[in-house]
Amino acid sequence: MKTETKTQKPTQPQTQKTTQKPPVTLVTVGGENYRSADPLGLSRVLDSRPCLPQQADGIDASLPIAEDELLIRVESLNIDSASFHQIKECCESDLKKMEAHILNLVSTRGKHHNPVTGSGGMLIGVVERVGPKFPVNEKPIRVGDKIATLVSLSLTPLHIDKIKAITLGKDRVDIEGYAILFASGLFAKLPEDIPPTVALAVLDVAGAPAQTRTLVKENDLVVVIGGAGKSGLLCLYEAKRKKGVTTIAVDYSPQAIERVKKTGWADQVIQADARNAIEVLEKVKAVTGGRLADVVINVANIPETEMSCILITKPKGIVYFFSMATSFTRAALGAEGVGADVDLRIGNGYTQGHADLSLALLRESKELYTLFKTQYAGD
Ligand code: NAP
Repeated sequence: MKTETKTQKPTQPQTQKTTQKPPVTLVTVGGENYRSADPLGLSRVLDSRPCLPQQADGIDASLPIAEDELLIRVESLNIDSASFHQIKECCESDLKKMEAHILNLVSTRGKHHNPVTGSGGMLIGVVERVGPKFPVNEKPIRVGDKIATLVSLSLTPLHIDKIKAITLGKDRVDIEGYAILFASGLFAKLPEDIPPTVALAVLDVAGAPAQTRTLVKENDLVVVIGGAGKSGLLCLYEAKRKKGVTTIAVDYSPQAIERVKKTGWADQVIQADARNAIEVLEKVKAVTGGRLADVVINVANIPETEMSCILITKPKGIVYFFSMATSFTRAALGAEGVGADVDLRIGNGYTQGHADLSLALLRESKELYTLFKTQYAGD
């Protein structure tokens, strides 16, 4: 194919800490313009310091795509729960204010990267263009495929033309706009047997049940903090698949307690404020006869829940912090402060095969599927 080079200025607004980038060098392949291949998206970073797109205050989401990028026509964003909760609170649940807030955030940063929680979310959309150097052998994809991105919105170049709807309670924002996936980015093709909004909801938290499968062993006592939420229910269901496992769900609101009780996936359901470590410890000990947990999974969507997890974990037990509201400092210094020799794990959202595993759970359990359809995906 014939290749030519020319230059074009980036069009995306820049943040205060960003610098004027040199003009973008374009190559022409088969009559189409592309930026030069850039698997990590480094040339899109607008900050004056050298950093990756996730760390950057601002990224350039302008077109054209690079030779090794994917262009996605976006349908819906699934905002990470901690981030959605924070935006909802600061906008007093007013949809107009939330719309303005999100539009401003994305146009300023070139990505949906909440500066307060540091988190993003993921999206679904249709592939509009595949760069000629996108690694299709490794990651087969074609124009027209419907996909969910499995990398965070906190590093995904995003441009919003219009917000069509914000669905409170489902953390979903339907938009008109586009996103760009780097060659290093992960995605899953949306399955044909599961509606896209259900798949979006489950894939957002796919790492949680997948890590649960690895961490939980037979006969373990497992406590899930925020157990009635989206990832909490998946983790409880997954933990219960192992022989002899006892599960405890801790959640707060009466509705949440009711929801998790109905499933039967928690042997015990505790109503407590996870920010109150002493209350959680006493209530857990009361139902276990003093036994502490082998594994604690934190999937709450609010800050300051680290210490309740640490206090209820047995020595050498594991605390898995999937929650994006987790503070590394609070967890590490807090564990040291109470002399807790526990294994603190950061909740990597990705583990190999996590998307297939989470979708398989929905196919396996009609109840889980129905819950996701009605609770987290319904329009
Ligand atoms: P979710 O559905 O909103 O669930 C959160 C649960 O926490 C809800 O049941 C909520 O109850 C409960 N909760 C809130 N305040 C509480 C309190 N004071 N005490 C006890 N429970 C409380 O959220 P999700 O989508 O499952 O996400 C869970 C967490 O994982 C979030 O922090 C999210 O940001 C994070 N996340 C991480 C990754 C990753 O890659 N590690 C990926 C996606 C999401 P109510 O319903 O009553 O408020």
